[in-house]
Amino acid sequence: HSPVDPSAEPPEKAEEAALRPGVLAEFGGQQRVAEQLGLVLAASKSRGTTPDHVLLSGPPGLGKTTLAMIIASEMSAPIRISSGPAIQHAGDLAAILSSLVPGEVFFLDEIHRMSKPAEEMLYLAMEDFRVDVVVGKGPGATAIPIDIPPFTLVGATTRAGLLPGPLRDRFGFTAQLDYYEVADLERIVTRSAGVIGVELAAGTAHTIASRSRGTPRIANRLLRRVRDWADVNHESPVTPQGAQTALDLYEVDPLGLDRLDRAVLTAVCLKFGGGPVGLSTLAISVGEEPQTVEEVAEPFLVRLGFLMRTPRGRVATDRAWRHLGLEPPSDGPS
Ligand code: ADP
Repeated sequence: HSPVDPSAEPPEKAEEAALRPGVLAEFGGQQRVAEQLGLVLAASKSRGTTPDHVLLSGPPGLGKTTLAMIIASEMSAPIRISSGPAIQHAGDLAAILSSLVPGEVFFLDEIHRMSKPAEEMLYLAMEDFRVDVVVGKGPGATAIPIDIPPFTLVGATTRAGLLPGPLRDRFGFTAQLDYYEVADLERIVTRSAGVIGVELAAGTAHTIASRSRGTPRIANRLLRRVRDWADVNHESPVTPQGAQTALDLYEVDPLGLDRLDRAVLTAVCLKFGGGPVGLSTLAISVGEEPQTVEEVAEPFLVRLGFLMRTPRGRVATDRAWRHLGLEPPSDGPS
């Protein structure tokens, strides 16, 4: 073994970049979205124009950043990456927009967390490729219009519903990413194993995929933990039993529930008798922001049929109780 070079990039960082599919054809899953986006890109390529602005919504780790990078690479355009919370002043946004090169892709993550003045500047930029920079204060303030080159905004948000209508309306193409099917994740795990050089026996990709919470980012992470286990235990190819042992060690739930998912379920069942419980009460009891509970944990629990959102609050289903190894209350919802 060579000594560790402390100046080198963390190996997992470099690997992360290698795992990102670079072209649309390598992007597994989300078939409809990939097809629709492919059409948008092909059409603008054939017309020689900059593609319409794209809004991608969905829980973290499903491939929004990856798609933005794919759009740039398919259009042979550079990409600029920023995020809503990083743009607190309209001036921050003006600085980025006015330095874009023609055709550049501007990826704006967490677009729903931008400040109001920046958002208003973005409206104009998206529509007219112009920003008004205000110089001075009070009655003497003047707005100086600055033309900006045509660009493609790729906005990402955990929930499209959080965006004000006028902003949402300015996107020409909107796509909602959903949790991946196990079969899609299986293909992603197989591809990733090839990239990072892990040999998997038949069925192992399936074992990892089915515990990945419908999320490619988690699938890649679990694959690395399985690799750690296999390296230490000299198992190659890695068998499904091996992968299962490794994942049990990391306390990965058989259905892929993570710490927050389990905390939310446990709280609804044990602290609130199965619900209904309001979002903010629930969030406080698990020590998280309501937004995180609502946008990260809940969509997956609802999808699994563990949690219901009712007008009176969140309710755990019988399946949820049983998953926690508990007997559901006899009068509870099923
Ligand atoms: P988001 O921006 O939605 O949080 P990312 O685009 O950063 O998600 O994706 C997380 C990781 O998952 C990336 O490193 C990428 O390698 C992987 N990934 C996401 N979507 C796919 C996909 N469709 N096929 C293969 N890998 C994917």
